[in-house]
Amino acid sequence: MTTLYCMKCGQKLPLPFHCGQPMHEEKIHNQDKLVCWMGPTCGEQEIPLHCERPMTVKG
Ligand SMILES: [Zn+2]
Ligand SMILES: [Zn+2]
Repeated sequence: MTTLYCMKCGQKLPLPFHCGQPMHEEKIHNQDKLVCWMGPTCGEQEIPLHCERPMTVKG
């Protein structure tokens, strides 16, 4: 299962859902974002921070 992982402390969190499915990582304007499976026009958000750095999408 794909999770958000903090490289610093090892915390794992579930990916947020959009339109009934987990979001995935995608580059939007050269920045990594979490994007809905329906596309960025449906939903996009910043990758959550943990220990003051963006978490890693792992799975
Ligand atoms: Zn969506
Ligand atoms: Zn952390």
